[in-house]
Amino acid sequence: MKILVSNDDGYLAPGIIALAEALRPIAEVVVVAPDSNRSGSSNSLTLDRPLSVFRADNGFYFVNGTPSDCVHVALTGGLAFRPDLIVSGINQGQNMGDDTLYSGTVAAATEGYLFGIPAIAFSQVEKGWAHVDAAARIAREIVERDFDMLQKPYLLNVNIPNLPYDEIKGIRAARLGKRHESEPVIRSLDPHGREIFWIGPAGKAKDAGEGTDFHTVAHGYVSVTPLQVDLTHSAQLDVLKKGLS
Ligand code: MN
Repeated sequence: MKILVSNDDGYLAPGIIALAEALRPIAEVVVVAPDSNRSGSSNSLTLDRPLSVFRADNGFYFVNGTPSDCVHVALTGGLAFRPDLIVSGINQGQNMGDDTLYSGTVAAATEGYLFGIPAIAFSQVEKGWAHVDAAARIAREIVERDFDMLQKPYLLNVNIPNLPYDEIKGIRAARLGKRHESEPVIRSLDPHGREIFWIGPAGKAKDAGEGTDFHTVAHGYVSVTPLQVDLTHSAQLDVLKKGLS
């Protein structure tokens, strides 16, 4: 098996190092990741300048671009082979509910999925890398699972509680929950006295009921959500068709 690994925290992040190490015993692993932290970059592609690919001492490739750039370049000419699987992460912090729209971690996986390759995004629920080795072990176990019950390509979004391996209760399928609207922007002044703004934190969980990713990880399980890309609101489409006819 050949696996392309990427992330949005950058090629030096502990999460991608742990993930690549965990997968090496079971696959040929190539890492192509951003040169710096590009969290929150969603599916953006860099179109206003060229991209460069560099090779680090540990063999990882890094790109002066976004997660989507990395996977895009790898799949459209950068790699000499077509990977069997795209794996992204392990992200520092959860990508649950509406986070999946902003996430560069999910986007790297989505880019592979759009090219017809199965893809899995991994995130740890809490920031700080606690028990990242356990998360990497879980990630390998999930990669090793046969997802033959799913049509290929599949796109899976996985969130892993920051627990020791033995305290993780299991792996459960879950739907995305929903968040409240984001916290307010953080105002400050730059050294010249000009007003500046930092984007505030994501909103608290709004729909975190049973069956959601929020609920699943809060109870000590790993959540796995199958994603799709079609954003069409089918119910409204039918209403709109009638309204516009
Ligand atoms: Mn990130």
